[in-house]
Amino acid sequence: MASTKNMFWKRKKIKLPTSDVSEPFISVTDVKHYFYCPRIIYFEKVLHAKPMLGSQQEYSQELHEEYVKKELRRKDAIFYSREFVGAEKMLFVQLISTKLNLQGVVDCIIKTKRKEFIPVDYKNMESNRGKPWMDHKYQLTAYALLIDENYSTCVKRGIINYLPEKRIIQLEITPTMKTHVKRVLGHIKRIIKEESLPPIRVARKKCSGGCGYKYLCKDF
Ligand code: SF4
Repeated sequence: MASTKNMFWKRKKIKLPTSDVSEPFISVTDVKHYFYCPRIIYFEKVLHAKPMLGSQQEYSQELHEEYVKKELRRKDAIFYSREFVGAEKMLFVQLISTKLNLQGVVDCIIKTKRKEFIPVDYKNMESNRGKPWMDHKYQLTAYALLIDENYSTCVKRGIINYLPEKRIIQLEITPTMKTHVKRVLGHIKRIIKEESLPPIRVARKKCSGGCGYKYLCKDF
């Protein structure tokens, strides 16, 4: 599942700080993948296999890029709530945490007049019947951790914009969610370091193979 954000990293050729080889840098996309299915980490980071994406998924990535480009053109406008009038909007913010060995590019960060930081993530898919999907919720939490460290703040909420539905979901980001993501970072590092095959999250029969690794997964 190569995301638009991954493509962004490649295009910009952003240099990461050197880290201990035993402590690999984890991306927020890895965190999202882990919550979707931990086995994706093994295929991507241990086997270095390429996902086979359907045309629908590729189209969806193009749409995402198109939408964010539109946001770039509307630099100052924030539509989510009246409370954000006059707030600052930062797009495609590249952040690194040397404490957590975590990196990511946030689609948008709203900085309110009261100096509250709110990450916003755009999704080219439907929500989970009006609620955020678990992997999206923890992806946003990982962005919150990056923002906390980089701006010396404490993110308490985030926004996910499900584009096809025009559904904007605001969700609370709690200390428990942040602790959970930190724990998961440890799991991800262990999968990579120990080259251990993690369990799948959904029963094989129910898995749609949306990750792009179904062609490999069936043999494990
Ligand atoms: S095909 Fe399904 S079970 Fe296998 S890695 Fe992908 S999401 Fe997980």
